[in-house]
Amino acid sequence: MSKGTINVSVDNIFPLIKKFLYSDHEIFLRELISNATDATLKMKHLANIGEADGVEYGEPMIEVKLDKKKKELRITDQGIGMTKDEVEKYINEIAFSGAEEFIEKYKDKNGKDAGIIGHFGLGFYSAFMVAEKVEIITKSYKDEPAVHWSCDGSPEFTLEEADKKERGTEIILHIAEDSTEFLEKNRIDELLVKYNKFMPIPIKFGTRTETLPKPEDAKEEDKAPTKKVDNVINNPNPAWTKLPTELEDKDYNSFYRELYPMQFEEPLFHIHLNVDYPFNLTGILYFPKMTNDMSIQKDKIQLYQNQVFVTDNVEGIVPEFLTMLRGVIDSPDIPLNVSRSYLQADGAVKKISSYITRKVADKLKSLFNSDREGFEKKWNDIKIVIEYGMLTEDKFFEKAQDFALYPTVDNNYYTLSELKEKIKDSQTDKDGNLVILYASNKEEQHSYIEATKEKGYEVLLLDSPIITHLLQKVEGSEEKVSFIRVDSDHVENLIKKDEEQISKLSDEEKESLKTFLDSVIPKEKFSVQLEALDSNANPFIITEPEFMRRMKDMQKTGGGGMFGMGGFPDMYNLIVNTNNELVIEILNTKTEKKKERLVNQALDLARLSKNLLKGEELTAFIKRSYEMIK
Ligand code: ADP
Repeated sequence: MSKGTINVSVDNIFPLIKKFLYSDHEIFLRELISNATDATLKMKHLANIGEADGVEYGEPMIEVKLDKKKKELRITDQGIGMTKDEVEKYINEIAFSGAEEFIEKYKDKNGKDAGIIGHFGLGFYSAFMVAEKVEIITKSYKDEPAVHWSCDGSPEFTLEEADKKERGTEIILHIAEDSTEFLEKNRIDELLVKYNKFMPIPIKFGTRTETLPKPEDAKEEDKAPTKKVDNVINNPNPAWTKLPTELEDKDYNSFYRELYPMQFEEPLFHIHLNVDYPFNLTGILYFPKMTNDMSIQKDKIQLYQNQVFVTDNVEGIVPEFLTMLRGVIDSPDIPLNVSRSYLQADGAVKKISSYITRKVADKLKSLFNSDREGFEKKWNDIKIVIEYGMLTEDKFFEKAQDFALYPTVDNNYYTLSELKEKIKDSQTDKDGNLVILYASNKEEQHSYIEATKEKGYEVLLLDSPIITHLLQKVEGSEEKVSFIRVDSDHVENLIKKDEEQISKLSDEEKESLKTFLDSVIPKEKFSVQLEALDSNANPFIITEPEFMRRMKDMQKTGGGGMFGMGGFPDMYNLIVNTNNELVIEILNTKTEKKKERLVNQALDLARLSKNLLKGEELTAFIKRSYEMIK
């Protein structure tokens, strides 16, 4: 037996390892299984190229074994193993100096960034986060005796010959007192599923009982026979590692189920990612049904590196709007031992991000082209992603012109250029601006929508929470196009034409009406405007100027604070149609009291149609209305 001191200058590195990676202790298992996988794949490679004479590759497996009584966790592989020299070189020297360097470099990091750093880099030595003693028993595929290495967490180790006959490595962890959670079967199950579910070599953890089909001559009451089989916890050939041509829609859907066993809805469609130049990346992204709540759908994409789970936080790797998708990205080219901010500045990661954006845009375009009807049906379930992408990524905005849809209140779907073509004759105002009318809520804006449709105008239904921001952007990119919500002005004013307004009232009559209205209607809430509109149009109409409303909307959804409009009061216009008979009646009513009552009643009706009449005022209105019909 030989004794030695691990080549390291820090006296005792283990407390450091433990402390530093405190939040991420559980990754030790992934690291050890990754090593076992690498060793097995190396063996396969050597066997393939005929480098390993007389060595049978067979069907190797990695096995995880738990012995709660002995407080042991074992990881066994049938990989290339290590000779004595290799243990000295890889375990005693290199690995340790790597760990030391690593800790030196990131000593003062903590919090979120440290989490991802902790994901990679420590490898074998992460075992000491949970074990007070670690043993390696390993036999190389080369014709050399097996060796037994043992270390109790001090820089001293022992190394001696062992009698292991089969090729491969066994790592024995003597779990420390403060880490006994890792002696629980459930906890290990959980970790295996989290990190190793798709690793390329089968991983066995215990056995399970499988029910076999009943023999033909079995009686009804006979129990079906059972058999104990290896409990293999992973799928070594997940869908994303295959070629798109090998897969059908049902394979993609069943892989979705594998990724999200608790998700019962089918995905709407998928995008298979597959590049090998200038970076390596594979993966499958799914568009699930989206709701308008953007925050709850994040953190569903899983990031892998060569089939090893790394994280489900892909912030910085895919553009933010795509974090609402689900699925898997696997790339060895994403640097992981760096902080998020570094990641975002990394050239390769930027390329990856723009590649993914492009693929998503291409897929959407091809769905649109090949099945427009189907695409329209899905629009409401996917628009939030597309609209958010258009708002935040200029490249995507450009590409989306081909497939972004603008639905009308009657469920017709147009692209922007189709819409422009359709309405250019009827909805161009006197200054040559094309005015696109929209509503955000069919119920609440019903009377405005009706009035607008009567004019023969198209009305869009745009109801995403971020739509105001997007409309600003579209207006900025198009010449002479503006979006106006149907309730932002009276229908005659939404699209100003060169039409002379003929008023039934003389200037004096208007003056007198205005003076009276101003005395009754609260100035701080409504600004009264007399307009000579169609006599069939409502007498009183409440509108909210587009600009003001947008500023408020944008403030609500973030980013609108630039005009310092915090707590900006609701300000409405009250348009009074001087050609409507009721208005003429108000003017001609002699008794002051009756006149006032007519005004209040008409005002309340106008408020009611804009959903502004609530609480006490609504109660008073109802009471007054009953009085009137008595
Ligand atoms: P890394 O895997 O990042 O190189 P590790 O500290 O995990 O760092 O391992 C150091 C080296 O020890 C590996 O590169 C490998 O040569 C060797 N090694 C570790 N585990 C095994 C194993 N199960 N079988 C064979 N060799 C191993």
